[in-house]
Amino acid sequence: MSQTTELYGELVFNDHVMQEHLPRATYKLLSQTIKESKPLDIEIANVVAHAMKEWAIGKGATHYTHWFQPLTGITSEKHDAFIEPQSNGSVLLSFSGKELIQGEPDASSFPSGGLRATFEARGYTAWDPTSYAFIKDGVLCIPTAFISYTGEALDKKTPLLRSMTAISEAAKRVLALFGKEATQIATTVGPEQEYFLVKEEDYAERLDLILTGRTLFGQAPCKGQELEEHYFGAIRPTVNRFMAELDAELWKLGIPAKTKHNEVAPAQHELAPVFLTTNAAIDANLLTMELMRKLASHHGLVCLQHEKPFEGINGSGKHNNWSIAADGTNLLDPGKTPFESLQFLVFLTAVIKAVDEYQGLLRMSVASAGNDHRLGANEAPPAIISIFLGDELEAVVRAIINSELHESAGDVMMNLGVPVLPTFIKDNTDRNRTSPFAFTGNKFEFRMPGSEVNLSDANMVLNTIVAKSLTDFAEAVEGASDFEKATRAYLKTVLTEHERIIFNGDNYSDQWPIEADRRGLLNLKSTPDCLSQFIAPASVELFERFKVLSLAEVESRYEVKLEHYSKKVNIEALTTIRMAHARFLPAIIEYSSVVADAIASKKAVSETLDTSAEEDLLTKLTKGINTISAAVAVLENSLAEAAAVEDSLQNARAYLSKVIPAMDAVRSAVDEQEVIVGHDYWPVPSYNHMLFYT
Ligand code: ADP
Ligand code: MG
Repeated sequence: MSQTTELYGELVFNDHVMQEHLPRATYKLLSQTIKESKPLDIEIANVVAHAMKEWAIGKGATHYTHWFQPLTGITSEKHDAFIEPQSNGSVLLSFSGKELIQGEPDASSFPSGGLRATFEARGYTAWDPTSYAFIKDGVLCIPTAFISYTGEALDKKTPLLRSMTAISEAAKRVLALFGKEATQIATTVGPEQEYFLVKEEDYAERLDLILTGRTLFGQAPCKGQELEEHYFGAIRPTVNRFMAELDAELWKLGIPAKTKHNEVAPAQHELAPVFLTTNAAIDANLLTMELMRKLASHHGLVCLQHEKPFEGINGSGKHNNWSIAADGTNLLDPGKTPFESLQFLVFLTAVIKAVDEYQGLLRMSVASAGNDHRLGANEAPPAIISIFLGDELEAVVRAIINSELHESAGDVMMNLGVPVLPTFIKDNTDRNRTSPFAFTGNKFEFRMPGSEVNLSDANMVLNTIVAKSLTDFAEAVEGASDFEKATRAYLKTVLTEHERIIFNGDNYSDQWPIEADRRGLLNLKSTPDCLSQFIAPASVELFERFKVLSLAEVESRYEVKLEHYSKKVNIEALTTIRMAHARFLPAIIEYSSVVADAIASKKAVSETLDTSAEEDLLTKLTKGINTISAAVAVLENSLAEAAAVEDSLQNARAYLSKVIPAMDAVRSAVDEQEVIVGHDYWPVPSYNHMLFYT
């Protein structure tokens, strides 16, 4: 066995390990429970817990934790030792079934958006046996959902799991119409994670990076990404060593890290794993992000996962490749026969309908203060949602709309001169990189999520809205005397109605927002603009109907998102003020006095020496000092004004319309000085320095 195959999954209590360590009967029962997503019996849990503990101790673990994802989106853990002191002074190591299936973290310090006040809800964590337990830093980590005692979800995972159930049931209903019976239907996700690496010593000098994850100041580097040399370029040796260690650690955790490369911006990179079932994929992504941050320090580097660490060059996204599979068969695979093609077209149409009907909700699902810097700038998809199908598939859709789909689904392919759907769609290399939601052969790629986001919300929305349109289809054709005919008629009606969401052109062009507006598509530019989509009656009705979120849960999440936005901008504004006062103004003042001294000493030598250049510089520096001071005062005022607004939506709006522009003004005043102040006097590392290290 090679080293890689040997270490792969060595820290995971996966199916293979379970089979090895559990009595046959327990293994069978556990597999069954996992497959059918049933609650776990305490008897089985006791046996599993014991086996898990023995296995973990054998791997050097001393503690266990329920690993969960509160509404902050990051992961949380509290470590408990296995030890159980005995009366004779010794200890036993124990881990019970109850401890495995349920934990009780003190929930009071996690955001709940008012849920706890309403329901007096203490929280508990419950094992998600569909995501394997693993060992991290000597701690046995049990992936869990976090729920209040009255049943409200307090985390990102619970609604995601509920949405997976919803889409699974809807898809089963649709497949039944095609005469198929599936046991396990699950959505799949392959997240492409982008990130930046900078040197630790540079990072340590920048309070903005430390506190906010992005640079709040900094002139664009003299060289940006215009030479297009970084994308897929040779990887720096330091970065290579980091990536190799990262791969090895991920593989040990059974995370199938597959592709790594340099990205478009200098110092930017990407890692893409092989796709997994959605909840496991998201757990894996969160672990990947954590390991990236941790392991970077072994190489003198810091991993930046903010959506826009540097102005003027690309930000980082996390493309969410998404599909749905029935017992391992991809339902967005065009299939080989006309009848399979019809089934494919039903699922494709369901996605098109869902994305059009709930475009606002989908946009909302990726909204954050950080991602606002990305969406709409000329690098990431715009804030307008549209779908790219590619020329060939779009031709099929048009043929259906124009009633060229006469007799059977196969005929349309004949009419287009192509016998079977898949061959030309699968080889579709004509990728549109500007589209926010692109069909890429046998999956959709949702490109709006930012690099820092927990993908649960986006997938919860995606799963639920597609569950809804699959259900709509089932309701429309169930009981029809001629299923194929009814299906073709349904496809025609629905595709005609939702054709407006399909756009194969350049999403970055200035014409697109105008055209999108004509089509009636939403263009929600900022987080405060789109969060209300979450609590819109149609959204609440959708989530309640599919039992994904209750009204109280929607409202609480909406509150948390608004608050989170305002808090993030508030921290940035405070950091801006602090850096201006404590770092930039003193530096510029110091440099200006050096220039003033130089002028004075020259004049002392001879009044006739021409000091006009120095005087010009001194004037600019003095002006800069005054402009910065004035801009900081404005920022302080707008911050006070925003902070005084009580209503959370208005509060977020105040941060957007008052605080952010005031921060921008401070930044541009400081950035103007950066290019005239002597290098040795500038108090923080520049973009030139940070992005082009060796
Ligand atoms: P790109 O050209 O955008 O880099 P790739 O073909 O490299 O796309 O795939 C990107 C990601 O899509 C990978 O993580 C891959 O595992 C994932 N992917 C492939 N098939 C599926 C699927 N059926 N469901 C979800 N993700 C998938
Ligand atoms: Mg991609």
